[in-house]
Amino acid sequence: MPELPESDAARRRIADHCLHRTIAGFALGEVSHVELPIAAERNRLIGTQFTRTRRHGKYIFAGSQNGPWLHIHLGMSGSLRVYEEGDDAPDYARLTVIFEGTRRLAFRDPRKFGRIRLVEDVDDFVAEKRLGPDAMEIGDNAFASAIGGTRQAVKSALLDQSKMAGVGNLWSDEALYRCGIMPDARGTDIDAATIAHLRRAVQDIMGYVMSRNADYSQLPNDWLIHHRKDGADCPRCGGTITKKKVGGRTAYHCPDHQSHAG
Ligand SMILES: [Zn+2]
Repeated sequence: MPELPESDAARRRIADHCLHRTIAGFALGEVSHVELPIAAERNRLIGTQFTRTRRHGKYIFAGSQNGPWLHIHLGMSGSLRVYEEGDDAPDYARLTVIFEGTRRLAFRDPRKFGRIRLVEDVDDFVAEKRLGPDAMEIGDNAFASAIGGTRQAVKSALLDQSKMAGVGNLWSDEALYRCGIMPDARGTDIDAATIAHLRRAVQDIMGYVMSRNADYSQLPNDWLIHHRKDGADCPRCGGTITKKKVGGRTAYHCPDHQSHAG
């Protein structure tokens, strides 16, 4: 499921290829179960241009100074595809933005958990959704109180978008693995230095993934992402990668070098 770095790669696709082009119309694919802007909302965008993009956590937006913004939530398996009229159109396209000329921006969503809607103001949207600070921008003190100040499992706290927005299952596991923290350790049992290390790890990991455009094949071999299999060897300590349910989510970890108290 796309998390902050994957969403940012999608945002960048719009920023790099779809700004300052006049929107001529939209094409709708099969729309069942997918929330899409209604015709009246789509009409408000026709004739306008996207001039900027924004991202908060996993949520991305394309719009202009005075709005409205097209908000895209990728869901489980959604993605954005930029192509030219005359090229093969992507399959599972739920909504395609037709720009003047040949440029097209398609929202692909094979599993139909994504959403696209019109948003008047991004900051209001973030407040309504009660999203915490963006995970790339949260500071030491805010992180320590949101993640270190809770008695719940640290993995669950990392996934709680109201505490901090953008981290999901994959990168929470990766950060805890790097810091030697068990996913079900309680936040309050982890010492302050380790919590500070965890914040840097979250931001370093996701920053690195973004720098590689979320292409996992370019991530270092000793990252957990390449070893997410029950019984795999831990490249860091030679221990055994194990999975367990934490707060209803599957957490991969290495019990040999990850512990409950740091
Ligand atoms: Zn290990």
